[in-house]
Amino acid sequence: QCTVVCPVGALVEKDDTDKVLDAIFDPKKTVIVQTAPSVRVALGDAFGLPDGAVVTKKMVSALKMIGFDKIFDTNYGADLTIAEEATELIDRIKNKKTMPMTTSCCPGWVNFVEKHYPEKIAHLSTTKSPMSIFSRIAKTDYAKQENIAAENIYSVAIMPCIAKKYEAQRPELSMDGIPDTDAVITTRGLIKLIKYIGIDFPNLPENEFDNPMGESTGAGAIFGATGGVMEAALRTAHEWLTGKEMPTLEYTPVRGFEGIKEAKVNLDGNELKIAVVHTLKNAALIMDKLRDGNCDYDFIEVMACPGGCVGGGGQPVTTTFAATKKRIASLYSIDRKSKLRKSHENPYLKKLYAEFLEKPGSEKAHNLLHTHYVGRKKEFEFNK
Ligand code: SF4
Repeated sequence: QCTVVCPVGALVEKDDTDKVLDAIFDPKKTVIVQTAPSVRVALGDAFGLPDGAVVTKKMVSALKMIGFDKIFDTNYGADLTIAEEATELIDRIKNKKTMPMTTSCCPGWVNFVEKHYPEKIAHLSTTKSPMSIFSRIAKTDYAKQENIAAENIYSVAIMPCIAKKYEAQRPELSMDGIPDTDAVITTRGLIKLIKYIGIDFPNLPENEFDNPMGESTGAGAIFGATGGVMEAALRTAHEWLTGKEMPTLEYTPVRGFEGIKEAKVNLDGNELKIAVVHTLKNAALIMDKLRDGNCDYDFIEVMACPGGCVGGGGQPVTTTFAATKKRIASLYSIDRKSKLRKSHENPYLKKLYAEFLEKPGSEKAHNLLHTHYVGRKKEFEFNK
């Protein structure tokens, strides 16, 4: 066990690499791996490549060499999260349910609400995070398509985040004793493994993700930046509420490093008041307003780490502010170059809903892709 501490969850990083290697060597197991959006723009830093270099295809090659059976993409899970979260937002608006709704894909933030504002848990979106949604679909629809028993699929997530290790262990994120995600390795953990095996990372050939769960849109890619989840959700929610595409897909009011960004989105005459927040210090300011009845937002995105997941606690320890900015710029360039830039246009997502989940927000989607939260004992006073 190493001693690197997560800046948001006060967790000590536990290395699951041995467990993952045991699964890879177990002939009964099909070991699949998903990689979060921010890993591909941070991994290269450790191998002498420029800050923010996009190394997606080399990363896929490295994971194949390590021995994973299938290399998939968390961005696909992000597209699914958006389809469910946009549906949930529209339902809350139309049926006058608890508002504002806040995102819940960041376990540092969820943990913070459960411990410090348990009376506000109903504001958290019930939609699971991209990591957990991905793994649940892998153990249901994908397992069925491939004729593999769910318990023989071992789902590994490469994450920029130490708190994701805690998320994977939540009892709320398992079904019939089978966890959504079996193991989480941080970007740092993957770097260590690549170096340990002796892979010449900069000179690796390029490879593509496997399908179907390697298929994603530009909206999934920007999840790694502060404001990215909001921007991706607006692209879908705007179209589903108004029947029209947003006037511009690149919604700049939610971009940038300001701690709290606010904007009003026009939805055919109706106004959606939004806020994008990063770091828990800023989140506490918003939650105090909510507790005091002074918060009139409709939808809030919160990411615990500075800059969002690109600056996460599991990224290379050398992360600087300049590197974080370059990683964000790289995620936006991945989005700009994507053929599809709205989550609901992901072809495998459409197929999944048509053939398995019925429609976003269906009872089946709720059973598999949503969760609940529980108030927890306060462990420390947050120092504002
Ligand atoms: Fe993890 Fe990202 Fe949240 Fe940081 S911002 S705690 S890296 S999910």
